[in-house]
Amino acid sequence: MLIDVHAHTNWLGMTTDDWAAHFRRIGVDRVWLLACVGQNVLRNTMDTEITNEDVMDAAQRYPDLFIPFCAVLPWEADAIQQIERFVELGCRGYGEHKIRLCIDNPDSVRVFQACGEMGLPVLFHMDVPLPSSDMWFNVDLARLPRVMEQCPKTIFIGHGPAFWREISGDAAASPEAYPSGPVTPGGLLPRLLDEWPNLYCDLSAGSGLNAVRRDPEFGPPFLEKYSHRILYGTDYHDTAHIEFLRGAGLSPEAFERITHLNAESLVPVR
Ligand SMILES: [Zn+2]
Repeated sequence: MLIDVHAHTNWLGMTTDDWAAHFRRIGVDRVWLLACVGQNVLRNTMDTEITNEDVMDAAQRYPDLFIPFCAVLPWEADAIQQIERFVELGCRGYGEHKIRLCIDNPDSVRVFQACGEMGLPVLFHMDVPLPSSDMWFNVDLARLPRVMEQCPKTIFIGHGPAFWREISGDAAASPEAYPSGPVTPGGLLPRLLDEWPNLYCDLSAGSGLNAVRRDPEFGPPFLEKYSHRILYGTDYHDTAHIEFLRGAGLSPEAFERITHLNAESLVPVR
C-alpha cells in the first residue's frame, strides 16, 4: 500500500484523467487530493487555484483512488458552513490551507478548531519572505504553538519551505527557502514535534525532500525517530520522494508508517 498525501488536479498542465493514470502507473494506491484557494487574494502569484468543486468531481470519478480535501477562505462569514457542506459530500480532510494570513490569525484558528471537532486533519503550506523567495503564506512556525494551544483536538500537518527549513537549528542564519548543508541540532521543527503529539510533517515537494536529504547524517535518523508523524507526499509528478525513502535505510516498520500507515490512521481507507 502506498498513499500520497499531497496531490492536486488540473495542476501542472495535467487533467484529472492524467493524474489518475500517473498514480496508477507508479503504483500509488490512494491519494489525498487537496484543494488550494485564496493565494491570489492579496497579491498575484504564479500559483493557480484548485477549486473544491474540481476536487469533489475528481473524487467522484475515481472513488477508489482520490480522497477529497476541501479548503476555504477563513475570513468568509460562512467558512465553517462551507466545510460542513463538503464533509456531507464526502470530504475527509481540510487543505491545502495556503492563505495570506499569519498562521495564528483568529479566523484561521476558528477554522482549525472546527476541523478538530469534525475529525478533519488540517494540512497547511507555510512560507515566509526570504531573499531567495518572496512568498508569504501562514507566517510563521514560531506562531504555531499559539495555534496548537487553542486547538487541542486538531491534527496539524505541516508543509512548505518555512516549515521544513526549521528542521535545522541555524535556520535563522540561512535565509534561503531550501537551505543546503549540514543540519544543526536544536531546530524549531524537532522541538515542536517533541512537544506537540498532534503535529505531523508532509514530506512533499522540494521543501520536504530537501530537508531530509540535505544532510545524510541527519535525514534518515530524523525520519526513523519521527516515523509516526511523517507522511509521504509528492505535490508533483516525480518519484524522487519514494526513491529517497527506499534508499534511506529505514526500518521496515518506519517505511510502512511513512508511506501509508500514518495516513490511514488519520484518514481511514474505506
Ligand atoms: Zn500543494
